[in-house]
Amino acid sequence: MQENIGRIAPPGSTGIKIIVVGAGYAGLACAIECTRKGHDVVILERVQKLKVLGDILSLGPNAGRILARWGLHDRVWAVCGHHPCMNLHNHLGELVRVQKFEQPKFGAYSYNGHRAEIHRILYEHAEELGISIRMGEEVTEYWEDGRRGVSGVVLRGGERLEADMVVAADGVRSFARKFVLDYQDKPKPSGYAVYRAWFDAAEQGVDTDPLTRHMVTNGDVFYGWIGQDVHFLTTSNLGGKSISWVITHKDDTELLDTSSLPGKMEDVLKIVEGWDPRCAAILSKAPECVDWKLTVHDPLPTWVSKGRRIILIGDAAHPFLPTSIQGASQAIEDGVTLATVLQIAGKDNIPVALQAWEKIRYQRVRNAQLMGESTRDKWHQAKPEDKGEQLDLPMPEWLFAFDAEAHAYKVFDEVRKGIERDGYRLPSLA
Ligand SMILES: Cc1cc2nc3c(=O)[nH]c(=O)nc-3n(C[C@H](O)[C@H](O)[C@H](O)COP(=O)(O)OP(=O)(O)OC[C@H]3O[C@@H](n4cnc5c(N)ncnc54)[C@H](O)[C@@H]3O)c2cc1C
Repeated sequence: MQENIGRIAPPGSTGIKIIVVGAGYAGLACAIECTRKGHDVVILERVQKLKVLGDILSLGPNAGRILARWGLHDRVWAVCGHHPCMNLHNHLGELVRVQKFEQPKFGAYSYNGHRAEIHRILYEHAEELGISIRMGEEVTEYWEDGRRGVSGVVLRGGERLEADMVVAADGVRSFARKFVLDYQDKPKPSGYAVYRAWFDAAEQGVDTDPLTRHMVTNGDVFYGWIGQDVHFLTTSNLGGKSISWVITHKDDTELLDTSSLPGKMEDVLKIVEGWDPRCAAILSKAPECVDWKLTVHDPLPTWVSKGRRIILIGDAAHPFLPTSIQGASQAIEDGVTLATVLQIAGKDNIPVALQAWEKIRYQRVRNAQLMGESTRDKWHQAKPEDKGEQLDLPMPEWLFAFDAEAHAYKVFDEVRKGIERDGYRLPSLA
């Protein structure tokens, strides 16, 4: 099956009809790869039209490999910052590590750009492939019928849609989760929050302040500062045109209904009192910022519904902390793996394909999630005198050299045989 990697099947050739709920990174990536694999897809998205939401988003080479296969490298590269290294400092401003970034690494590129810009490229590519994207359609009900081997959704407004399966890519506050699990999974506070911002460098005078000028006079740069229970990362992007920053800090406030609020600059600046003055200088340039409470979810016991016709992918299945820098990459891997196992299994074997998909994805996703916690803890517990590569952002081969499509072709038969031999058990974690 290895020879199938990257090949595009004729449209509708597998006869598998799929409803994808949500046009975020997970939903779009899934729909794109499913179309490439010959499945027949419709996307349902609640919002009427795309909005510019969020700020910096990173994709690792494990996702970059997939974007390149889709022919999107040049388009995505053009909207991204290009940072040759990360200059990491302790809170007093002493340089403790310069981590060089190889591009490409393990044969593929990583990307750091505005969430909305990269998202728009994926959206337009889905349109180019002729995928039906129904904007302004909110799913209010999920259903499945094991006897007929179908599942579907009901839209606000009452329309009932049917397909061979439904992919719920409806994000961290997933409504589908309750249908799949039969209970309401509640997020828990992680004990941390981030303030984050993205703004135009020239408009905010970044080039005229001697404390911030270094951000925009040497091409794109990536600076970081670490202190007790805090880390602060900032980049300039597109040749110094825009600045993004994210500061992660302790936050024990109670969870509100919405986890993202406008941030107050005086609260942000309190975090870096007594720090290298470059921190307050760049932070205070932001005209506004977001206060984003970071939540954690216990790993869900399963991502597959009882009738094995509805699945959760992306943040709906496994929300990520920003320090993992893998949320969107794992969402993309989910979709590619799914499309591939469905192609191999065929229309008559969708339930076993979904079980195999879950087995293939479950432990890998968990390992990537845990990396977010370990990087945060490593930086937050570092002593001011700590230096060197122990402070690096991890770039493990198991994570970045991975090819989700090739892996699915390689292991699917073995995983399926295991399920048929032993019966399916809910995934467990090592
Ligand atoms: C507003 C926003 C800003 C973000 N900003 C950043 C950022 O700056 N940096 C970063 O690293 N990550 C950011 N993220 C997170 C990042 O996009 C995700 O972690 C990752 O890309 C996984 O995406 P996803 O597709 O699983 O979920 P999401 O990106 O959340 O997409 C879910 C989609 O499902 C739709 N949806 C939800 N419910 C329904 C329903 N009932 N019917 C139809 N459609 C529905 C939503 O409108 C949304 O478009 C942001 C997410 C959001 C939603």
